[in-house]
Amino acid sequence: MEKKNIQWDSIGFGYIQTEQRYVANYRDGKWDNGGLTDEANITLNECACVFQYAQTCFEGLKAYTTKDGKIVAFRPDLNAQRMVDSCNQLKMPALPVEQFIDAVKQVVKANAAYVPPYGSGATLYLRPFMMGTNSVIGVKPASEYQFRIFATPVGPYFKGGVRPLTVRISDLDRAAPHGTGHIKAGLNYAMSLYNIVDAHEQGYDENIYLDPQTRTKLEETGGANIILIKGNTLVTPKSGSILPSITRRSLLYVAKEYLGMEVEEREVYLSELDTFEECGLCGTAAVISPVGKIVDHGREICFPSGMTDMGAKTKKLYETLTGIQMGTIPAPEGWICEIM
Ligand SMILES: *Cc1c(COP(=O)(O)O)cnc(C)c1O
Repeated sequence: MEKKNIQWDSIGFGYIQTEQRYVANYRDGKWDNGGLTDEANITLNECACVFQYAQTCFEGLKAYTTKDGKIVAFRPDLNAQRMVDSCNQLKMPALPVEQFIDAVKQVVKANAAYVPPYGSGATLYLRPFMMGTNSVIGVKPASEYQFRIFATPVGPYFKGGVRPLTVRISDLDRAAPHGTGHIKAGLNYAMSLYNIVDAHEQGYDENIYLDPQTRTKLEETGGANIILIKGNTLVTPKSGSILPSITRRSLLYVAKEYLGMEVEEREVYLSELDTFEECGLCGTAAVISPVGKIVDHGREICFPSGMTDMGAKTKKLYETLTGIQMGTIPAPEGWICEIM
């Protein structure tokens, strides 16, 4: 198979249209078999539930080339299951886990020419999403839905090497205590747009959200979970309104089983931030972005890991997880889904 003529190391994190995408429709109480299409545009009625009441959720995962030339995806079963959970919360009909995984495989195979080569740092990003498609004007769930997965090649998250981030403690909230913070709903992102633009204008890379009830505990950023390191212990905030990151769950396992670290999932207070040595944001896109500095209004928390490189433990975590993904370190059973 001939790869596309793309400068893999210079593409950014943007949308590059690829040839085939998967579409399945839900009508009369059931999902159809779905299949591939080259039509990238969607035509819907103006009154479709997704437009009026934001009835939509999504996922994000990657396919990439391993050292031995296979094309694989990382734990797509967890994305499938998380989308089931999102659908249940939004009164959308869940797509069966097996159909989701089959759709991932179909899209990757059909766009194999866009899967970046091993060592390029680039990957094929997959975006599964679902929306209510029929017209709804009284507030209620749609009765018809469309599920899609498209693929787009994305470059290395940090071009020209990692750069520790400067993040601020946000004055605005991301998710209500008994709301939708734990599901991957587009609405959680719509409400974060004002704040991320403002953060960038003020010179910060990201917003760290606090628990809205007491505003004393860390939750996560707009699109990544938080990990903190103290000695040989990896700590991550626990809360019902955090999105359960697959990267974070994988890192906890790697810390414990591969690196012999202690792991703690617990409430993390703003007031204890200066007791940690390293901090990072984790998600599919960058795996781990190191945080060098957190600014809490007047107070600056500068981690000893500094502003030029990843901290030593963070780096070990990053290298181990990406090694597992790229096939240079043996993976736990079931983590790597071989596609071709
Ligand atoms: C998607 C997402 C993450 C990261 O999850 P991964 O499964 O690791 O990609 C973290 N926080 C939020 C709010 C997200 O939407």
